[in-house]
Amino acid sequence: NLKKRTIPILFLCSALSAGAQNKTAAKVEALLKKMTLEEKVGQMAQITLDVIGKGKDRFTSYEPFDLDPKELEKALVQYKIGSVLNTSNNRARTTAVWYDIISKIQKTAMTKNKNAIPVLYGIDGIHGETYTAGATMFPQQIGQAATFNRTLIHRGAEISAYETRASSIPWTFSPQLDLGPDPRFPRQQETFGEDPYLAAELGKAMVKGYEGENNEVSNPFRVATSVKHFLGYQSSVSGKDRTPAVISDQALREYHLPPFKAAIDAGAKTIMVNSGLINGVPVHANYNILTKMLKEELGFKGLVVTDWGDIENLYARDHVAKNNKDAVRIAVNAGIDMSMIAYNYEPFCDDLIALVKEGKVKEERINDAVRRILTLKYELNLFEKPTTHPKDYPKFGSPEFEKAAYNTAAESITLLKNTNQILPLAKSSKILVTGPNANSMRTLNGAWTYSWQGEKVEEFAGKYNTILKALQNKAGKENITYVPGVSYKMDGKYYEEYADKMDQAVQAAKDVDVIVLCLGENTYTETPGNLNDLYLSDLQTELAQKLAATGKKIILVLNEGRPRVISKFEKKMAAVLQTYQPGNFGGDALADILFGEVNPSGRLPYTYPQFPNALFTYYHKPSESRSTTEGVYNYDADYNPQYVFGQGLSYTTFRYSALKLSSTTLKKGESLTVSVEVTNTGKVAGKESVLLFSSELVSAPISPDAKRLRAFEKIELKAGESKTLTFTINAAQLSTVNEALESTTQPGAFSIQIADQKANFNYTL
Ligand code: BGC
Repeated sequence: NLKKRTIPILFLCSALSAGAQNKTAAKVEALLKKMTLEEKVGQMAQITLDVIGKGKDRFTSYEPFDLDPKELEKALVQYKIGSVLNTSNNRARTTAVWYDIISKIQKTAMTKNKNAIPVLYGIDGIHGETYTAGATMFPQQIGQAATFNRTLIHRGAEISAYETRASSIPWTFSPQLDLGPDPRFPRQQETFGEDPYLAAELGKAMVKGYEGENNEVSNPFRVATSVKHFLGYQSSVSGKDRTPAVISDQALREYHLPPFKAAIDAGAKTIMVNSGLINGVPVHANYNILTKMLKEELGFKGLVVTDWGDIENLYARDHVAKNNKDAVRIAVNAGIDMSMIAYNYEPFCDDLIALVKEGKVKEERINDAVRRILTLKYELNLFEKPTTHPKDYPKFGSPEFEKAAYNTAAESITLLKNTNQILPLAKSSKILVTGPNANSMRTLNGAWTYSWQGEKVEEFAGKYNTILKALQNKAGKENITYVPGVSYKMDGKYYEEYADKMDQAVQAAKDVDVIVLCLGENTYTETPGNLNDLYLSDLQTELAQKLAATGKKIILVLNEGRPRVISKFEKKMAAVLQTYQPGNFGGDALADILFGEVNPSGRLPYTYPQFPNALFTYYHKPSESRSTTEGVYNYDADYNPQYVFGQGLSYTTFRYSALKLSSTTLKKGESLTVSVEVTNTGKVAGKESVLLFSSELVSAPISPDAKRLRAFEKIELKAGESKTLTFTINAAQLSTVNEALESTTQPGAFSIQIADQKANFNYTL
């Protein structure tokens, strides 16, 4: 019955949306016909706000911010620029200031140009609305991944969309669906970790949270996403930002493509391109990737925007073009629709106009690009409503939103070790709190927080609790001694540190019951975050060693964007928690976990390496794992992480039992069910992410991965409670990409494992 009733409704919805699409298409065509070449090219150009602000340097100080009428006129009227991004002077603005800035921009664009086309404003809302003062800041994506909770991620995106529109901005450069298989890369914190399936599932949830279930971005509480950076961005050979990657076509499709494909299938409106090179070719110049794969094969109908200055980079950095004009020709012909020029917009516009006149870029290519841009502007309802007013967004920064950010932080924090159940702590414990991350809102948030590198967090986040403050609130100031031991130089490079009363910290350790040692990294993103050594810094290692020598029990709290190697002292730590970069409520969430008011339920979304030269993903090949290379003397390449993907303990215990397969054979087009009973056998309630992996026992000619995550579900169980979970698996879900680049499932034997990190149940199909 239900089926019978839902079919006509679904049909109606799709008929309605097809109708709306046709209407939009008709409007776009009508407008396109009226536009001059100059106007079309202007639509394809995006500049940074500083270009039209008073003072042109992103890093100089000019406050309060205002627009420069002459620059505004030149960019929007003379050059007819169609898009603006970023903040001014690298700092967050209030919603009122945003409204003022964007109203002036829209007024200029829409009253001084014959066709009255609104500007499309875009911003990096990376873990919340980065550039709006008072916005709700969630954990960075890597922490969100650790929750394994689609609902929390969806809700976070919905809130960020609301707060972005409260700032009058309709377009966010998020989510980041690059795979994060390399812990050295300076943006691992912005990814959902190393697993393609996890990133695809959470990416979908995020796109829907931002854009709505039916991608109804005309709704003034929704924003268009920009899924980035298509594709293979975080797999550079050097581990450094914007350096070359070597990725086979097979690996590109097997690992890097699925999260993007999922987001495109979920209706993501725009895509941002990888700034780097794959197999020697800059992706911005790659017709096969941008047009053949993205637009034709995946059927992506939205707009493709470059990353920052990346057309210029084709000649200035990568030397695949002789000059700017050559670079513009290559990129636009490869499939770029909009250039994030940033500063120097005149050459892009002048060169592209000349190229069309010379026949080197076809006008049809320009029309295709502009159609995509105008379609989005209509879909966002910008022609009717070019701004949104803060007064219509009363929930901006509200306790309700803050609670959601707290909940995500609380489910992200991952308990990696808890020797003799030292945690939770008793409130009466005398505690030494130490380490450079103990009293910093900046490190709790990471980059893209009220400023690019996170360098202005403290200025905007004064009302929130650092780890130290949250612990003092919880346990009473009288029970807490704080000595930094090591501090970050606030005016130096992000990695510069100094010993800050280290001897005093060691001395203080002698008078307490337990030490909460907060180590990790200062904030960074992109090229400034490049790294030469994955070991945690020497000074922090020294502090850990000296504290361990006192014989006092140490709770190690990690607060870092990527897993820095801690094997020099890890064995001496009684407990270890990974907080990632948990946002403004990370301190509170951690304190609640340390004192047992919240039961931790995060699970590691990447493999935590034990050595800087032993970087493996959990889906490594058999030759990287001793257990499957028995008889082969291969210990130099052993899979030997500090902590495995999916690791995460709880204050309760879960028993997995009665694992059942509905069938031991699976044919094409059929599905089978895998069920498992999970029982909370401890004394407190807890949440558990149940992860289902598959392994292909033999595959040829491409050697099989050790295992692959195929399904997951997070459940909550009271003490003593049991639940049976049932996963449905079809043959396609077990597929891999073969050497002919087809997604197939080879006939053969597979094992299915449901992993709780202590027991793996293996059944062979
Ligand atoms: C980053 C992008 C970002 C863009 C705009 C680039 O440098 O790579 O992720 O969206 O800047 O700020």
